[in-house]
Amino acid sequence: MRYTITGSPGFFRSLYIIIKHQLTAESASMAKYSATEMHNKVVNECLQLFGGYGYMWDYPIARMYADNRFARIYAGTNEIMKLLIARGLFKELFKQLKAERKE
Ligand SMILES: Cc1cc2nc3c(=O)[nH]c(=O)nc-3n(C[C@H](O)[C@H](O)[C@H](O)COP(=O)(O)OP(=O)(O)OC[C@H]3O[C@@H](n4cnc5c(N)ncnc54)[C@H](O)[C@@H]3O)c2cc1C
Repeated sequence: MRYTITGSPGFFRSLYIIIKHQLTAESASMAKYSATEMHNKVVNECLQLFGGYGYMWDYPIARMYADNRFARIYAGTNEIMKLLIARGLFKELFKQLKAERKE
């Protein structure tokens, strides 16, 4: 039997980081942020496809939409993910600036 794995470049990058044990707060935040934002775009378009019925609990898409809305909040809101990413990106620069001030 043959399997085909499909996913975005971000998905494969995340998978690689986990396998290589290189997960950091910064890379985990990037993965959580990008995955939940993409999930939101997809589920939002899908709900639109269902029209008014997509808003009814009778249809699973309504549950999926509600679940995604919370995914952007729990385990650290996506605004906090952006803070963690920024801190990680500028960590070295902040260190340098601090060292220069001490001199
Ligand atoms: C039903 C439910 C189940 C939960 N289950 C769990 C669980 O099992 N385990 C667990 O660990 N936690 C759980 N939580 C907590 C969840 O992780 C928190 O709700 C989440 O981290 C957001 O924190 P908060 O609700 O205090 O929002 P707040 O921190 O009050 O944030 C409110 C808003 O302000 C924004 N904000 C806050 N600070 C900043 C900032 N510095 N810059 C920009 N924007 C900012 C946030 O992004 C958000 O939009 C649960 C919460 C709920 C409601």
